[in-house]
Amino acid sequence: MLDRSVTRIVFEGLSPEGELLFYVLATLSIGVFFAGLAIKLRKYLRGRREDRIGSWRGFLAGALRGLGAAAANTTVRKRDPFAGLFHAAVMWGFVVLFIGTAILTIDTDIVGIVAPQYHFFWGAFYVVYSFVLDALGVVMIVGLAAMAYRRARMKKPQLDYGRVDLAEASTDRRGFLRGDRLFLGWLLVLGVTGYIVEGVRIAQDDFPWFEVFAPVGYVLGRAFAALGVGGGTAPELRLALWWGHALLALGFVAYIPFSKAFHMLGDPVNLALRSPLAGRRLPVLPAVAPADGHLGLRDLADFSWKQLLDFDSCTKCGRCHVACPAAASGAPLSPRDLVLDLRQQADAAWAVLAPGHERRSDRAYGNGRTGGQVAGGLIGPRTLWSCTTCLACVEACPVGIEHVPAIVGMRRSLIDQGELEPMLQTALTNLAKQGNSFGQSGRTRAKWTEGLATPVTDARREPVDWLWFVGDFASFDARVQGATRLVARVFQDAALDFGILHEGERNAGNDVRRVGEEGLFEMLAEHNIGQLSKATFRRVVTTDPHTLNTMRFEYPALGGDWSVWHYSELLIWLFREGRLRTERPLGRRVTYHDPCYLARYSKVTQAPREVLEAIGAELVEMPRNRANTFCCGAGGGRIWMDDSMLRERPSEQRVREAAALEGVTDFVTACPKDLTMYSAAVKATGLEGRLVVRDLIELVAVATGLAIDEPEPGPESPAAAAAAAGATAG
Ligand code: SF4
Ligand code: SF4
Repeated sequence: MLDRSVTRIVFEGLSPEGELLFYVLATLSIGVFFAGLAIKLRKYLRGRREDRIGSWRGFLAGALRGLGAAAANTTVRKRDPFAGLFHAAVMWGFVVLFIGTAILTIDTDIVGIVAPQYHFFWGAFYVVYSFVLDALGVVMIVGLAAMAYRRARMKKPQLDYGRVDLAEASTDRRGFLRGDRLFLGWLLVLGVTGYIVEGVRIAQDDFPWFEVFAPVGYVLGRAFAALGVGGGTAPELRLALWWGHALLALGFVAYIPFSKAFHMLGDPVNLALRSPLAGRRLPVLPAVAPADGHLGLRDLADFSWKQLLDFDSCTKCGRCHVACPAAASGAPLSPRDLVLDLRQQADAAWAVLAPGHERRSDRAYGNGRTGGQVAGGLIGPRTLWSCTTCLACVEACPVGIEHVPAIVGMRRSLIDQGELEPMLQTALTNLAKQGNSFGQSGRTRAKWTEGLATPVTDARREPVDWLWFVGDFASFDARVQGATRLVARVFQDAALDFGILHEGERNAGNDVRRVGEEGLFEMLAEHNIGQLSKATFRRVVTTDPHTLNTMRFEYPALGGDWSVWHYSELLIWLFREGRLRTERPLGRRVTYHDPCYLARYSKVTQAPREVLEAIGAELVEMPRNRANTFCCGAGGGRIWMDDSMLRERPSEQRVREAAALEGVTDFVTACPKDLTMYSAAVKATGLEGRLVVRDLIELVAVATGLAIDEPEPGPESPAAAAAAAGATAG
């Protein structure tokens, strides 16, 4: 039976003055901790208001999801199992040690004073407590040692703080490195000194039998005893060690809000508050513009409190940096550096405690109230125009930072300031005048149907089951038109009741919005919604993942709420229904490129793969696939901008990745822009004899017997051949 002697004396050997000093220091440390939090909170209050709660039910579900992800470390484990495993070890070790300290504080400083008869820090509780804390302390130390090894030895590219937008000589990031090392080192020393203090205590107390349940401390105690420490010797050493450990612990508490350690508090909150639609549905411009009428995120004060919290949550893990196609191509953009620059500016402008901070930040940043200009100032136009809005950064970020809305918000400001990327102006003018970026008359939008044997129904005049929203590239681009005609032929072959808006359709506006041209986006969307509203149909289908995104996630807010499908989803449904049949299984090795806007934005990754399986293709995956796909470089309006200054275009890097796969002859994709970009990339890289770029529909047409297979793409591709066959048949 365990009795009250099974415990240890808290503050053993400490004089009353020493105890008092400890409490004074503890109060100070906690005071500094809360002052640090107050500085942060006050900074967030300088940001624009933003409702992240919405409905309570939705908020609770999101918060539980976010906190669950933080607790299970799923976002850290994703794509980096080593970091995930050892981060979990550090996190859970620390959490349990923290809870253990809190329990001891409650027993000593609350129960011990208010109701000593209810003391619980003894007997079975003490034994279990000792064992759990001893074990989790080891877990934390192992985790910290592994993370230190990863930083020092594994040379991960994401941990290289070199910048892509500035000359090496003009940046000094040694402060970042020092901060990382201090955080890791402090925790490590804290853990190790805890065991040393415990070992010396057990040795001096002559190894009470129940201390075997603190096995690490017990073994260390034996080692100290062998060195002559024990049985009442060297009480000064014990006291000195205890003070050393206590000061380290109290110092760490005070250090949390001012350092990398803040992520322990900020990141679970950030994950709980993250929007599942971040980037997919962009925020509308605030109803009330600032006093001077500027649009977009021009100044720091235009960012919301949640965006300021985003910047503070960054752990500098670099995952977004290595996932970013712009950074990989030599463009002057790294999502990590963009976030860190904004954080540093916000800290310098607003994170000061002393009264009169406005004057101080005024001096440094021009205006304490606005926080200084960021769009076109701190974050330059070339950086902002480099983004393809591929969402890789948002997808990779383990702490739920939403880079894309911030970048687009700043682009809105560039547009407002007239700082357009030179080539963009032409595309925007065409879009405003003709409703397409090709500068073609809107009346010729359905010209691609002319080669078809069976005309395509005008959905404005007749009711249809499926409204096919064709999109710009599928309608006007010469390389893509062949594939577009094939889509029509496959749908007709499957007896699908479908129609198009003909010249009633305009660009859906997805990329216009991501360029930052909010007004033009609204015009295009309102026009399309008006046309669609006049037609009678049950569902919408599109081949264009960009159109899919804006129609699925953004049109509903403007009154256009329909069920919108990607054609790969419709194709696999037609195969399952038996309305499409494979007559000639392909029987060859292909690879499939997940378009960013399909895999990351709409999370459609399985349907195209199932279509490939249904037509008898052998799929060989590229190393980066599904949500971890790589971008073609066309998104976010980049297809309308100059990319000649890039070191190597993202599309070229991607086709090289595919060409490294053994026996793969076909590079298959399911996006009209991809077809254009990758066809050009295969030519530019000299891989023409090695890889053929195909739209999914081209292979479906071959396998279902609608088209003949041909090795080369272009006007003589299966698409064109099938279209020609259709014309002849007609
Ligand atoms: S959206 Fe893509 S291109 Fe833009 S910053 Fe993020 S990773 Fe880079
Ligand atoms: S923004 Fe996210 S992914 Fe990028 S470095 Fe910071 S924490 Fe890592």
